[in-house]
This record gives sequence, C-alpha cells and structure tokens, in this order.
Amino acid sequence: MALKLFNTLSRSVQEFTPLDPAGKSVGMYCCGPTVYDYAHIGNWRTFVFADLVRRTLEFSGYGVKHVMNITDVEDKIIKRVRENKTTLREFTGKFEAAFLDDLKMLGCREPHEKPRATEHIPEIIELIEKLVARGVAYKAADGSVYFSIDKYRGCGCNYGQLLKLNLDEMRAGERVASDEYEKESVADFALWKARVPDDGDVFWPSPFGEGRPGWHIECSAMSIKALGETFDLHLGGEDLKFPHHEDEIAQSEGATGKTFVKYWLHGAHLLVEGKKMSKSLGNYFTLRDLQAKGFTGREVRYLLLSAHYRETFNFTLDGLNGARSALARIDECIKKLREVAAQLNPESETQINNGEVPFLKERVLVALQNDLNISEVWARVFEWVRYVNRLLVTNQIRPENALYALRDWDETDFVLGIGVKSENEIPAEIQTLAEARTAAKQARDFKKSDAIRDELKAKGWVIEDTPKGIKLKKI
Ligand code: AMP
Ligand code: ZN
Repeated sequence: MALKLFNTLSRSVQEFTPLDPAGKSVGMYCCGPTVYDYAHIGNWRTFVFADLVRRTLEFSGYGVKHVMNITDVEDKIIKRVRENKTTLREFTGKFEAAFLDDLKMLGCREPHEKPRATEHIPEIIELIEKLVARGVAYKAADGSVYFSIDKYRGCGCNYGQLLKLNLDEMRAGERVASDEYEKESVADFALWKARVPDDGDVFWPSPFGEGRPGWHIECSAMSIKALGETFDLHLGGEDLKFPHHEDEIAQSEGATGKTFVKYWLHGAHLLVEGKKMSKSLGNYFTLRDLQAKGFTGREVRYLLLSAHYRETFNFTLDGLNGARSALARIDECIKKLREVAAQLNPESETQINNGEVPFLKERVLVALQNDLNISEVWARVFEWVRYVNRLLVTNQIRPENALYALRDWDETDFVLGIGVKSENEIPAEIQTLAEARTAAKQARDFKKSDAIRDELKAKGWVIEDTPKGIKLKKI
C-alpha cells in the first residue's frame, strides 16, 4: 500500500510520491521552536507529530533528510532579551539546549540539520535582494523592506494557497511590521526590519541598512538552503498556516519562480478545556512540569500520539494517567514474552512464527500509511497484546515464537518510538530529588543535601558522586 497524507494545499488526502526521480529520498522541513521560553506540550504535540511523519516515511523505506530550524531572532525573543538584560546568544542558548533535552526525553529522532536563523543572515539578505530585484519587495519610509502582495499577485502568483483569503478587502499599500498577525490584517509584511532603539545590540548590517530579518523570511532562506528550491514536505502546527506558511510560500516562489513545497502537513492543536494550549492564555504545562508530577517523557509521548494529528484533543492529567496504564499493559506483555523467550534452547533452530502470534508490524504500517491513522494503530497494538496475553496465560506460546513476537514488537516500535520500560529507568521523582541534592551541595547546604540523600535511601536508591557527576543505583 502506498503512503497517503492530507495535503493542506489540495485540501485532500493524496498519495505521497517524492520528488526524487529514484523515489527514494525525501526532504522534510518542520518549523522549529522559537527559543524564548521552555516549549509547552502543545508545541510538543506538533514536534512529536513531525517525528511520527519522519518515522513513517523511514518505516515505508524512504531515506529522509529532516530539517528543523531554530528561530533564535524574532520579536518575542528581542523583547525578553531586553527585559532580562542579557545577550541574544546567552538567552536563546539556554532554551535551545532545554528544547533538545526535551526532544530526547520524548523519544523524538534528532533532525539531521538544525539551522539557526542568526547563522543564516547572508542567505536571508540574498533572498530579500532577489525579491527586490524581481519587483515584489520594496524599502518603505520606515527603512524596513516589505513584501508587496499586490505586486506578487500582479505577476500571476497566488497569495492564499493554504487558506482562502478575502483579498478584495485588502487595502493596497498597508503594512504590518510584526511577525504575527491575523488573517483580517492581510498586508505587506516585513522581510527586513530596520534597526530601532528597542532592538539593543540585536542587528546586522545589510544593503538595506542595519536591522534584522522578519520571522517568515528566516524559514524560506533556511529551508531552501538545506533542501533546495523545491522540496517534498513542510510541516507545522495549524496556527502556522497563516501568516507564517503563506508568507513562506510567497517569499520563496516570488524569489525562485518555482513551486516551493509539494506537500504541506499541519497538525491540530492540543487544547485545555476547549482552548488552544498557549503561553498567552497561561493554560500550559511544560514537559518539566509533568516530570515534576512524576510522569515520564514516554508517557507524554504516548498521550500526544493517542489522537489523529488532524483532530484537536483536550489535555488532562487523567489522560496522562490513562497513557501510563496503557503503557503498563504493553510492558507487562513484553516482560512475560521475555520470560518465555529466555527458555529458548540455544541449539534450537526453529525461530519461525508458524501462526501462533499474528504479525503486528505489517498491520501498523498499513494503518500509518492511511494518513497516519493512529487510532487504528493502537487498536492493532492492543489486539496483539490481548492475543499474546491469552496465549501466555494458557501456556500456548513456545519460546521460539515468543522470541519472534519480541522481534516483531521491536520492529514495530521503530515507528512508534515508545520503547519498553527499562528495568534501570530512574523515576522522575528520584531524578528530581537527586538534582535537588546537587543544588543543595553546591549551595553548601550540607544538612539539606544529607537529608535528601537519606530520603533517596528510604525510597530504595543510593546516590554516588563520581568525577563525571552523580550516579543513581537501586539498592
Ligand atoms: P513556536 O515555538 O511558538 O514557534 O511553536 C512551535 C510549534 O508549536 C509550531 O508548529 C506551532 O504551530 C505549534 N503549537 C503551538 N501551540 C500549539 C498547541 N496548543 N498544539 C499543537 N501545536 C502547537
Ligand atoms: Zn517556519
């Protein structure tokens, strides 16, 4: 079966055919984090969705080049740098590192390239120069360079490819300088923002004068550099359709005259009581918040993968407890399979599944290839768990077939990425206590650090200080 995905450009589920004439390699760009704070798990829903797309492509046999940018200069960042009286790099570096730590905790594969906007200023300037030369960008009286939607449309180009816009109500010549705006305010948007006193040290020289890039042009420049003028897949959360992605298309197609992206994929939002989880509403949890409550990255990943990517769903702590129980059912089944497989006679040559256990991998692949039908995936997984459990209870599974089933599970997990709970996994609560002890020691509060060490001991863990840092061991 061929892979089918919903393309926002055509508003329909389409068969995926890569641009590569050999049909083997795929270029995929996912808009990365704006590193002005810790990412919340709404953001993480989108990045876990991108990880599932990548894994599904790889599971289907494609070689994927996965690119995710780091937006490290943008309106919100500049504001925070000013408020915190720090430097751009120091400020964004901290949140970028935290983001990459969380990415690992959530079992996401690391993108092959993670370009930073601030390291692509020459490419951004070059792209803006092309747009100016083609007559679709202009320098305004405020010293900034804007993209002209009127001129772009005048060349026969289509502004409004990802969603319908009422362009007749648009007032020609109106401009918007901020990076984020509503679709009611369709207007010429900033490519290069002239330096203003509030920008502090954050500016670069350019042929248009000192200033900094707009958010949208950053992604056009970095994606074209990493994947070429036309590439296969571009992903993001649904709020990025407008203006961010629409502007990316306009800038890229306006500069190259070529189709920018073949398939646009958008993930629906994670909600809290019916509203989008967002920093501005204050209704958010970071991964760290949930770890402090004792949940693991694996449990959060499972929860984020529990709904279809085009459907919104409400985040609740109950839902997370449900994720924990679901994973425990899988873990228990795998643990018992291991016990049976351990009885395998090493001399035995029969490792063929002769019908005792149904294949899982193929069924999961078929479900995913149908526009990432994740509910079907979990239905198949738990059908398999129930079946295996029945065989285990009645001692009807032979060691060689238990081993076979374990291999099938491992291959299936290549795409799910939920793994199996390791016997050595350190619970988040223990990890948090250990970190608190280190902090107490650094603050020379030895009374507190000793008390935490005793508490860890009471919970069954010893802590050792080694030259490489602390080590936790189960008693
Ligand atoms: P940002 O760091 O704000 O640029 O956002 C990073 C990604 O998270 C973008 O793809 C957004 O569309 C996505 N995003 C933001 N809020 C949510 C949410 N509540 N649910 C799902 N994705 C979100
Ligand atoms: Zn982007």
